[in-house]
This record gives sequence, structure tokens and C-alpha cells, in this order.
Amino acid sequence: MIDLRSDTVTRPGRAMLEAMMTAPVGDDVYGDDPTVNELQRYAAELGGKEAALFLPTGTQANLVALLSHCERGEEYIVGQVAHNYLYEAGGAAVLGSIQPQPIDAAPDGTLPLDKVAAKIKADDIHFARTRLLSLENTHNGKVLPREYLKQAWEFTRERGLSLHVDGARIFNAVVDYGCELREVTQYCDSFTICLSKGLGTPVGSLLVGSADYIKRATRWRKMAGGGMRQAGILAAAGLYALKNNVQRLQQDHDNAAWMATQLREMGVDVMRHDTNMLFVRVGDTHAAALGEFMRERGVLINAAPALRLVTHLDVSREQLAQVVSHWQAFLQR
Ligand SMILES: *Cc1c(COP(=O)(O)O)cnc(C)c1O
Repeated sequence: MIDLRSDTVTRPGRAMLEAMMTAPVGDDVYGDDPTVNELQRYAAELGGKEAALFLPTGTQANLVALLSHCERGEEYIVGQVAHNYLYEAGGAAVLGSIQPQPIDAAPDGTLPLDKVAAKIKADDIHFARTRLLSLENTHNGKVLPREYLKQAWEFTRERGLSLHVDGARIFNAVVDYGCELREVTQYCDSFTICLSKGLGTPVGSLLVGSADYIKRATRWRKMAGGGMRQAGILAAAGLYALKNNVQRLQQDHDNAAWMATQLREMGVDVMRHDTNMLFVRVGDTHAAALGEFMRERGVLINAAPALRLVTHLDVSREQLAQVVSHWQAFLQR
């Protein structure tokens, strides 16, 4: 199957599996797993921070991140369609008694700082205490402007807020900027990395920040049930991914751009393409039929009127060329 639904569908290749099979392991709840420790050390170094924590999922990494920034009765300002507001089942509110203050993102994926400022609450017994600004980079494939990261950092310093970046796909942004991770993450207090999307591991995310912060996060992770034992098997995949699968994300971006061009030339309404994602309008009448047509030909897509196609390390340019020709056949049927 050619699976364009998400970059989460990637499977570990032979070299990654080899690294997993030969990884030295220990009990990570005791802090004894050398491979987890090495992954955490390496991620902290890449991000220019003191410490990092390995977690099973990006959702748990964001939850633990929020719990470690905000106390009960405090709030975070976040995008209306940010993952850690909209797509995490309300975890921060349910499990942390942390109030979200969502605002609309600008078309470029940023949260305009004047709009953020307008939502920061005064010190008044009627209000929750505003503690944190949470950004997402990339946001639906969009790379936040580099200048904005610095502005958001300076803004939060002036306003006494912490700054968290949900960096599930931060390496897609880093590859697009053509810089080192730490040049980007110097402008936040904490950030997450998802290892199981375009980086290609079966499982795993990282939360990165100061030593004190990660110490608090480690307790929250335990409470959330994320303290794993011989997790080095999984961490080995993460180390492999960070060392081998970052620069190749450029191929996914090039493939998405190529696909956008091909589809546009066929008259398909490609609304936008950013990094490894394309957004295509197929309309209400064709969505289900296109999904079925593709499925019969071994291609999986999210069959929706406005659908997202995602490129990743398990789809080659040749396979995308097949998808394009199937699409052509669909239009001519
Ligand atoms: C995928 C994703 C996450 C975490 O997802 P998990 O499936 O729990 O690993 C968090 N934030 C963003 C922006 C994501 O795209």
C-alpha cells in the first residue's frame, strides 16, 4: 500500500530494527537504561538544553509539558487548532485542571502577539493565572517565520510567561530553515519532538528543557503511566532516527512540492503545500469516490472534501508518480 494519510504510518526499516535489537537496556524507571539515557543526552545537546525525557507518545509529552509548566487553576494560551488544545482529548484540563485560552492562529501559523497580549489576565481573584504560551512548529505543515520565534521569546520574557513549542515536526522546520535545532529552540523554555512521524520510529517522543523542568516532568510522566522499563529498545530507534533520518526530510518536502505541481497541472485544486503536506480540495461529490478509487489501486488517502496528503520516508517519488497517474485516470473516468 502507498499510504499518504499521515507520516505516522512509517515502519522501522532493517537498519533501525538492527539498532533496536542490539541496544543495551536497563530499567529506565531506575534511570538505568543506557540507551534511553543516551537518547535523552543527545536530544538535549541537539536542542541546546540541559535535559530531555523520553515518552511513549507526543500526546503524553505535551500533557507532561503542560503539567510541568502550569499548576491547577493556571492557564496556557494556545492556538484554536493546536494539537495540545484540540486533539488531545482535553487532557490538560481533565488531568491537570489547567485552563486553555485558545486563540485563532494567523494564516502563517503564528499566534499574533498583540492577540496573545489581549488574553493575558490581570492579577485578579476572578481570573485564572496566565502562565504559558504554547506554539506549534510546524503547524499543519507550516514553518513558523524564524523572526517570530525570537519575538515570541522576547514577548514572553517581558510578560513573565513560559514558552512551550509543540515540535512534533520541528525537524521539518529545521530542515526548511537550513539551520541547527538549537538555533530555533534557544527561543523556548521547552519543546517536544515526535520520533514516530517523519523520523520513522515505531514509538516515542521527547520533551526537552532545563534540568529542573525535566525533573518535574519525570514525576508527571510516572503519574501519567509513562515510566517504561527496558525502553532502550525503543530509544535505540529514536537515536537511529535523530542520526540518520533528519536531513532526508528534505526529500519528503521535495516530493510534496513535486506532487503539488503535478496535481495542479492536471487541474486539481491544490490549496497549499508546506513542508511534507499538501491540502487538496476535491469537493463533496468526489471525495468518497476518489478514496475508493485509490484504495482499489493500493493507495490510502483521507477521503474528505478537503484532504491532506502527507509525504514520508515510506513513499518514494516513483510511488507518488503512480498516485498522480491514478488521479489522472480518476479525473478521466
Ligand atoms: C502528532 C502530533 C502530536 C502527538 O501525537 P501522538 O500521536 O500522540 O504521538 C503532537 N503535536 C502535533 C502537532 C502533532 O502533529
